[in-house]
Amino acid sequence: MGKKVLVFADRRDGVVRQVTYESIAAARLIVGDGKVIVAVLGTDGKKEVESLAHYGADHILLLEDGQLDTYITDAYFLAWQYVIDQVKPDVILTGHTTIGKDVAPRIAAHFDFGLISDCTSINMVGEEITYTRPIYAGKAFVKKTFVSGTQFSTIRPNNIPTLDLDTSRSATTEEISVEIKKDRLRTIVTQVVKKATSGIDLSEARIVVSGGRGVKSTEGFQPLQELADVLGAAVGASRGACDAGYCDYALQIGQTGKVVTPDLYIACGISGAIQHVAGMSSSKVIVAINKDPDAPIFQIADYGIVGDLFEVVPLLTKELKKV
Ligand code: FAD
Repeated sequence: MGKKVLVFADRRDGVVRQVTYESIAAARLIVGDGKVIVAVLGTDGKKEVESLAHYGADHILLLEDGQLDTYITDAYFLAWQYVIDQVKPDVILTGHTTIGKDVAPRIAAHFDFGLISDCTSINMVGEEITYTRPIYAGKAFVKKTFVSGTQFSTIRPNNIPTLDLDTSRSATTEEISVEIKKDRLRTIVTQVVKKATSGIDLSEARIVVSGGRGVKSTEGFQPLQELADVLGAAVGASRGACDAGYCDYALQIGQTGKVVTPDLYIACGISGAIQHVAGMSSSKVIVAINKDPDAPIFQIADYGIVGDLFEVVPLLTKELKKV
């Protein structure tokens, strides 16, 4: 029998993020002859309809409300709650992102749903849906199922491949409005101050060049940034580098930082502590540059370069510029 699978789109600055398409692909694996319904919050959602349909959405709910353009926990909670009440889904999926991580547990607690967070894959085994997620800081994976009720899970970005673009696919749309009363919002956003970044989101980057304490200073990140620019990569960091004040905590990768799953991860001057590895060990190819041949990072690296990063990184950049 078909299921009603509801996907909450992850949208920032008016753009639907990649993890939404990955969640739709997961939804299609389990939907049977049911429906994949995608909820898009905020103004100008209509411009997303075509692309969401081409990647597998059957029905799109548009909540065109300016109060949802900027993320506010209470506003999103009220909107998600309203959508769930209307749709009454069998399964709910959303990205394991800043928004998903914040709203999903509140919604699960409110409706008394079970929640399996940070899933790296979802599969149908017979009639049962199994959800796979990492445990023990990524050292092992566990498969879980729900025994009853609405199934709710968050999807780790960059793990489930999106469906191929199919321009023959179309979706129905429906505009719905939710009343978000000002007195229900315990916070308001008065101003958004954006940091200057390379523009590539670390969590969704296909290539990450990451620096550790071995980078030695803020200026030491410059050669890494140059390599990243040549590769179209995002720059990340270990907590060692962040704690030393060499870079912003927004770059921190690991157990208490961001989790990344790029195609290529280049670790420069990072020892490979378990808490760092927890955030990058699922990268498809890992390259480590470290002057200590016994650094633990080499145990998980596909390619290791024993050497001084200040010599190796500029050399790599120089050679890659020729390609
Ligand atoms: P170090 O361990 O000091 O390693 C620096 C490396 O650079 C060394 O291997 C050295 O050989 C190499 N090096 C030095 N100079 C050069 C050079 N010129 N060229 C090449 N190599 C060079 N850490 C995280 O990263 N992310 C987390 O989310 C995180 N969460 C944590 C949570 C908890 C509860 C705790 C207790 C710790 C956490 N940590 C986390 C910290 C973690 O344990 C390590 O301390 C940290 O990852 C070390 O950072 P590092 O590898 O940059 O520094």
